[in-house]
Amino acid sequence: MSGWLAIAGLGPGATELVTPEVTATLAQATDLIGYAPYVVRVPERAGLIRHGSDNREELDRAFLAFRLATEGRREGVVSSGDAGVFAMAAAVFEAVDSGDPAWRDLDIRVLPGISAMFAAAARIGAPLGHDFCAINLSDNLKPWELIERRLRLTAQADFVIALYNPLSKARPWQLRRAFELLCEQLPATVPVVFASAVSDAREAIEIVHLGDAVAERADMRTLVLIGSSRTKLIARGNGRPFVYTPRSAGASS
Ligand code: SAH
Repeated sequence: MSGWLAIAGLGPGATELVTPEVTATLAQATDLIGYAPYVVRVPERAGLIRHGSDNREELDRAFLAFRLATEGRREGVVSSGDAGVFAMAAAVFEAVDSGDPAWRDLDIRVLPGISAMFAAAARIGAPLGHDFCAINLSDNLKPWELIERRLRLTAQADFVIALYNPLSKARPWQLRRAFELLCEQLPATVPVVFASAVSDAREAIEIVHLGDAVAERADMRTLVLIGSSRTKLIARGNGRPFVYTPRSAGASS
């Protein structure tokens, strides 16, 4: 039987948010490869080998996947959210690009998943209803100066911004600096959403204004959404407003 490699996003956490396509495909896999906490989200079964690894070993994981797929094994390479968003899919294609030319002819599929920004947005309303961008705040794979430049320019262009990887023990100050910089570009009243552990039991969502945003509120499982100057709150009796960004901006008609 010929091997294949399916790169699959497992969604933000809840089983209901894993797509049927991902579930059906992983049920056929012989091996699972990925960051250990994600690999364990796929139910155990006889004949399935799980290769959980450390967070920083993305390229090694991709090479392992190719080695096994060329041996005829069926690989599920898993990420949280969508595998194409700051995750394993790009690492796999980096390996294809630089590795054995025979890998290009393997059966490689990418299966979409629900990214954290979509799960978080859906919880609070429709903050991504107009133009938006996603920025990975981790400076592990790019210089911090580049992140600052992108933050400044996207804020000037008035995009809604989804910040992934806002904070970790190894990166304690970056989000605070990002807020300072955004405060220089945007009104202090712009809504900021801290959406943590969306869709699992520890889910916590907090909506504040940019001027009051405290970086330490975030952790490694928080998606931080920064509104544009047009993002609005609709107050509700339960104290939890809806957040949305109108679909039009400066429309001519
Ligand atoms: N591929 C993933 C992102 C991986 S980067 C996706 O598409 O969602 C990891 C970052 O994603 C975390 O630091 C956090 O910012 C965000 N994230 C992942 N799961 C989350 C969840 N359940 N709730 C909030 N943010 C989450």
